[in-house]
Amino acid sequence: MATLALDIGGTKIAAGVVSDDGDLMHRAQEKTPDEREAIWGVVERLLTEAKGTAGELTGVGIGSAGPIDLHTGTVSPINIHAWDDFPIVDRVAELTGLPVRLGGDGLCMALGEQWRGAGQDARFMLGMVVSTGIGGGLVLDGAPYDGRTGNAGHVGHVVVDVDGAKCTCGGHGCVETVASGPSIARWARDHGWDAPPESNAKELADAAKTGDPTALRAYYRGATAIAAAIASVAAVCDLDLVVIGGGVAKSKGLLFLPLRETLTWYAGLDFIQELRVEPAVLGGDAGLIGAAKLATLAE
Ligand SMILES: [Zn+2]
Repeated sequence: MATLALDIGGTKIAAGVVSDDGDLMHRAQEKTPDEREAIWGVVERLLTEAKGTAGELTGVGIGSAGPIDLHTGTVSPINIHAWDDFPIVDRVAELTGLPVRLGGDGLCMALGEQWRGAGQDARFMLGMVVSTGIGGGLVLDGAPYDGRTGNAGHVGHVVVDVDGAKCTCGGHGCVETVASGPSIARWARDHGWDAPPESNAKELADAAKTGDPTALRAYYRGATAIAAAIASVAAVCDLDLVVIGGGVAKSKGLLFLPLRETLTWYAGLDFIQELRVEPAVLGGDAGLIGAAKLATLAE
């Protein structure tokens, strides 16, 4: 037996087949188009293809960029403008004839890492993706935590700067405005990093590795903001592990060394002193594996 999995993001859509043990047996992805029915066309094609590679299937798990609405089974991703209240659960159920369960992409990433990745020994875990934006999801007492509408775990919008810049969410001073890839690169350019305007966090990481002091400071500042956000969430949720994936986390030590160092500054309470922060290990597969896990769990 196996499960169909779907991962919907602003830049790509992926579908897969995941075995009951969490092995990803099939995976395919396509770029996310701009138009409402064209996006659905990609989902339809990928799911139909995935279904064709599998034997008996028990259900479909969907991880989608948010916000989502679990009550209506709809998604309105900020970075997919053509999908506002898109009825993804009904459409996928109709297409596949299978039971469907929906979750946020951050939740699915966290669940995937907890099942088959870096979080296998954790029961209270925050999964974070630091990339173009910052997303996340919570696994609490071993179970995915949805929240009231399915949007719990939006850790990118923990406020770390009370006088901070406006965020894409409409709020101000969110950690995403300081520590997302584009935010880190923008800060570096504003502070003397000599690079073309389109340079991103990957190029900044390359500069930091050659010892560029502004690039190093930019990563240090981003890592510090993430540490502050993590300490806040850990104090609220009594966590034992944070797993971080995404493009910015690929810089490994550049992010993790200052992050762990500054975390000791923000995490004051005794019960979060032992909090561990580890790199994700499943990469882009975590969302599919976690979506499949979600589908196997009872509502
Ligand atoms: Zn925000």
